[in-house]
Amino acid sequence: MAAGGSTQQRRREMAAASAAAISGAGRCRLSKIGATRRPPPARVRVAVRLRPFVDGTAGASDPPCVRGMDSCSLEIANWRNHQETLKYQFDAFYGERSTQQDIYAGSVQPILRHLLEGQNASVLAYGPTGAGKTHTMLGSPEQPGVIPRALMDLLQLTREEGAEGRPWALSVTMSYLEIYQEKVLDLLDPASGDLVIREDCRGNILIPGLSQKPISSFADFERHFLPASRNRTVGATRLNQRSSRSHAVLLVKVDQRERLAPFRQREGKLYLIDLAGSEDNRRTGNKGLRLKESGAINTSLFVLGKVVDALNQGLPRVPYRDSKLTRLLQDSLGGSAHSILIANIAPERRFYLDTVSALNFAARSKEVINRPFTNESLQPHALGPVKLSQKELLGPPEAKRARGPEEEEIGSPEPMAAPASASQKLSPLQKLSSMDPAMLERLLSLDRLLASQGSQGAPLLSTPKRERMVLMKTVEEKDLEIERLKTKQKELEAKMLAQKAEEKENHCPTMLRPLSHRTVTGAKPLKKAVVMPLQLIQEQAASPNAEIHILKNKGRKRKANILGLAAGQRCGAS
Ligand code: ADP
Ligand code: MG
Repeated sequence: MAAGGSTQQRRREMAAASAAAISGAGRCRLSKIGATRRPPPARVRVAVRLRPFVDGTAGASDPPCVRGMDSCSLEIANWRNHQETLKYQFDAFYGERSTQQDIYAGSVQPILRHLLEGQNASVLAYGPTGAGKTHTMLGSPEQPGVIPRALMDLLQLTREEGAEGRPWALSVTMSYLEIYQEKVLDLLDPASGDLVIREDCRGNILIPGLSQKPISSFADFERHFLPASRNRTVGATRLNQRSSRSHAVLLVKVDQRERLAPFRQREGKLYLIDLAGSEDNRRTGNKGLRLKESGAINTSLFVLGKVVDALNQGLPRVPYRDSKLTRLLQDSLGGSAHSILIANIAPERRFYLDTVSALNFAARSKEVINRPFTNESLQPHALGPVKLSQKELLGPPEAKRARGPEEEEIGSPEPMAAPASASQKLSPLQKLSSMDPAMLERLLSLDRLLASQGSQGAPLLSTPKRERMVLMKTVEEKDLEIERLKTKQKELEAKMLAQKAEEKENHCPTMLRPLSHRTVTGAKPLKKAVVMPLQLIQEQAASPNAEIHILKNKGRKRKANILGLAAGQRCGAS
């Protein structure tokens, strides 16, 4: 049962959360907080949703095996002991009478505001096939789920926040992919094949080549999302006619650019994930390809369980890389996102074992701690000290080459890109705001030099931090050396001029003047390694210096004799 007694209380909380999320004052305060200090660690929130009986199976013949106790807890029969029940407590429990709006407003809407702070958020629907994951995430036209509601609110929020006269300009893009049998497939571009998942130097997870569509209205979203959803790989099992056999991931990015100084920019990512079912293969009647699919799905979910356990136990190695799903979720679980896991369960007794295992997974997940941070940097055109001309720096081929390979593949549409500026050459992966402007200028010059020499390597500013530091140090040293040489050259030129003037006065060329009359200049001859002909070396050997060598040799011999004597004495003694 739904936590009926606390429904009113929940509604009040939801209304308060919605008001806080939507009110302009609330948002202003949030963006300031995000900009100045790192938010505290955030635990993964876990909600459980119990769907009602479907197909009219409810009744005395099939009593529910799960029961809600209040707005946060539930109990389930203990199969080991029929006299007992197992109790679980979560951040929220939604019973069979709860509506789509209840789940959205109670658990999802409150985390959306973090996107406007430049932080990441993710919503995952977990549970056995047929328990209501797709209903919760997608819903139907009559009962829209989390995805359409979140998109509607987010677009509205960004329109308001990004309106003319507001401090930030905002834009939203979407990507939609599925992980099917450990392959990452772009649902907006099904022809693109299996995509790779990468991590940038700041720990952000990227999928190079994944389509990214700008959306400014809900109609825009539907235009891309609906045909893409039809591309999803779905099959039929005994458990569910429309069972999803893949993990569907909708990625929504909110990009913000400050309109006035200091021209900051922020990016917040929202993952909305409808996971494939965690059903037990033995019960689904899966054979052949279906069994293979289930195997792959369960491998991903099994690794997901291992990741959660490793995070809970504080193990040094978290096996994110062991599956595509966990690799993708790396910055959502134990990472930088505000995450909510919605475990969907079914009341029918035939789901009992899957329900217990889903509840156990949910209980373990709620111990995971994330560390959300603000993805903030300076907009490229805000870097004042860089005074290189746009033409000089941004020939189209150079500009393309200078972008990181990942960014190039993503093909970001950048609907509200700042005017092309010198520093567009900089990799967006670097935290430019923290860079010394003088250093930055020098790096840009080097970058330009490399580009003009046709260097095919990665742009300088995309190189790892340590390498960059070494490069910067070398540049510094070279600059100092050049300065020293310039000063010396000036001195020499001045001396030369002075000598010439003197020569003119005396009508006597310097070379012919006696040594004693020569002026001694401060300049010393350049130290050069001179390779002398063998003859000269032999002649030198006959010079008085050779005496010294001989004497030295004699000295060594004498020393050797003394040592030999000592050794002889020792031998004699032994
Ligand atoms: P899953 O995605 O977990 O496999 P579905 O979302 O497809 O499960 O749900 C299975 C069936 O149950 C669907 O027919 C769906 O409409 C129905 N259903 C799920 N949750 C609810 C709910 N809360 N209220 C009404 N029907 C639901
Ligand atoms: Mg589904």
